[in-house]
Order: sequence, then C-alpha cells, then structure tokens
Amino acid sequence: MSDETRLIHAGKAADTLVRTVGPPIQKGSTVLLPNAEALYDDANFLTYGRGGLSAQTCLQDALGMLEAAEGVTLYPSGIAAISGVAMALLKAGDEILVVDSIYKPVRRFCDSVLRRFGVDVTYFDPHASPESLVESASSATRMILLESPGSLSFEMLDIPRIAELARGRGILTAIDNTWGAGLIFKPLEHGVDISLQALTKYVGGHSDVFMGSAAARDPKLVRQLADGINHMGWAVSGEDAYAMLRGLRTLPIRMARQSESGLAVASWLRDQPEVAQVLHPALPGAPGHDLWARDYSGACGLFGIVLKPGPTQAVNAFLNGLKLFGLGFSWGGFESLAIACDPQLKVRQFARDYGGPLIRLHVGLESPDDLIADLRRGLDAYGQ
Ligand SMILES: *Cc1c(COP(=O)(O)O)cnc(C)c1O
Repeated sequence: MSDETRLIHAGKAADTLVRTVGPPIQKGSTVLLPNAEALYDDANFLTYGRGGLSAQTCLQDALGMLEAAEGVTLYPSGIAAISGVAMALLKAGDEILVVDSIYKPVRRFCDSVLRRFGVDVTYFDPHASPESLVESASSATRMILLESPGSLSFEMLDIPRIAELARGRGILTAIDNTWGAGLIFKPLEHGVDISLQALTKYVGGHSDVFMGSAAARDPKLVRQLADGINHMGWAVSGEDAYAMLRGLRTLPIRMARQSESGLAVASWLRDQPEVAQVLHPALPGAPGHDLWARDYSGACGLFGIVLKPGPTQAVNAFLNGLKLFGLGFSWGGFESLAIACDPQLKVRQFARDYGGPLIRLHVGLESPDDLIADLRRGLDAYGQ
C-alpha cells in the first residue's frame, strides 16, 4: 500500500493502555464500531463522541458519587447547566418561580430566552416563607429555581421545606448549589430534584476551566436531561473534564482551608468600624446562620460585607487600596477576589436597602493574616 493509505491507518491506538492514576483523555468525534450490527445498536454501544468519552464518563461517575445522584449531565459552563435544564424540562405555557437573589446572568436567560419561548417567569422574595412561596404557585407552575445562599446577598433558603412542599404539589425543584459545591451541602439528600453547579468555581478550583453539571435521582429526569443535551448538541472536552476531575481530588481540603480562613477574615471584619454588617451564613449571629447550621457540613470562602454608608468614590478607593485581593468576577479558585455588588442589585424586584455599599469577598488560599492586613489597608482608604 502507498504511504498515503498507510499514514491514515498507522499509529492510531495503542494495543493496550497502561493504567495511570487518572483516566486517559480520549479525543474523538468518530467512534469505531466493531461490526455493522453495532452501528445502530445505541443500547449497547457508544456510537459517537459528542456525548463524552473516558474522562467525561469518569467525571460523571465521580460527581454522581459526590452528589449521591442516579445520573449527572455535563454542560460547557455553569450558565449552560441552568439554561440546559430549563430547556430540557420546560415548555410554552409553563411557569417557573425563580428566587430574586438568583445569579444575575441566569436572570438574563430567564427574562430574554425563557420568556421568548412562552415560559412565564415569576421572581419571588428570598425572605418569603416556604409556605407562601409554594402557595403562590399556579396550576401552570412546573419548576422552582433556587439558589442558596443567594448570589451577592447571601440569603439562606429553607431548602428541605421548599422541596417537600413543592413535591406535594408536583412541582420540580432545582437549585444552583455552586456555593455548596456538592460537598458541604447535598441538595438531593434534602429532597431537591436537580442539583446544579458551576464546576467552574470550587470544583475546578484554579480559575481556568468552564463547566457546569446537573445531578438528579429520578431515572426519568436523568433521561430527560441527557436527551436535552443531545437535542441541543452540547459537548464538553476531555481535557476540561480531566481538569475538573483533578480539581475534585483536592476539593475537600481546599474548601476546608478556605472556609477556615474566610471565617477568620469575616469575624475580624465584623469588628472593624467601617463595616456595618457581615453576610456570611456560617458566622454565628449572621443572617441565615440557623439554616446553615442545620443543613450544611461546612462553608466556602465566599461572603459579603456591608460597609457603613459612603460614596462610590470611597468604595472604589477601598477596592483600589487592596493589593492581595484581585478585582474580578468569579470565585472558587485559589486566589482572593473582591467586587462591589451594588450595580448588580438594580435588576432585583425585591431589592433591599442593605444600609451601605455591598462588597463580595472571596478568600483564597493565602494566609488570613496577610489578607486581613490587606483589608485594613483598603478600609483605611475607605475612611479617608
Ligand atoms: C459563576 C456562577 C455561575 C455560572 O458559571 P459559568 O461557568 O461562569 O457559566 C452560576 N451560578 C453561580 C452562583 C455562579 O457563581
């Protein structure tokens, strides 16, 4: 045979794969089937690479174990996990109830895409009781979308009670559990139907990969979510799945350390004269602490603070005075970050007056003493 033909067929696969600690990263759109009968035998053969190969399957298994789920679907980002679940399960004429403290890009998806497809979107106050929330549902309500603690403002929801009441009415519950990372809070064990997370944050842990996941127990729901991915044509790469698996190995120790440092920084902040309030559910006395103590086995490094009233200029001086805290969105990585939140609160329907500028801090793996010194520098600049 000619070199042209031989080059197409040579060097394609090792005869045997040696075992490494992690799975092989397979790259492939085409999957070669053993015989003609297998080509259309979807029940027994994986026939195409879009649905994921070895690393993606291993990640699904590991997340399924972590979340105590029957099945896990993977999406190219955290937002895609939430939009993917909505597109897989909702139809025109349905209503979705969404907590008003939802991550802002999810709100954008609900307002611009779900509404365009004829889904009724209703926001509810995170301070509403579970009873009044579920009573407000109509016969068209198909899903309640939760996030706890709330994005930026850290309201805690009574998840088990909402899940129980919703189930009694035949309404699905889904939660953005990025803060709990499937580790310190396990929504499926508290009766929630779908546990969503932006793996981009704590699971990835290094601020360099995007991915999202949806975990469920009901086999019919798992099937519907997998079909949804197939219909939308979404795929995640083996390299990215491998990076998420690597993150999972150290998730418990990173979160434990970041929780401990975060609490040290939060309790120090509570005593500073420039700080009006600390919004950290794991801090005794802070809003939502009772629910956190009942339902969570730990915390992460993300929380909010309310400064005593001051102009935008002073808030900028505070943030610009920080040297160790980077100014940037996202969180869950090894590095400390800070943002001002007020510009994002304007879209809320049940906006609260927090009594001063709201700042979100993410405490990374640096020494908490160094971070405290950095925050003191920033607060000095705020006061001037
Ligand atoms: C970052 C984030 C998301 C979205 O994740 P991406 O991977 O950036 O799309 C969703 N929910 C919460 C709470 C987040 O912080």
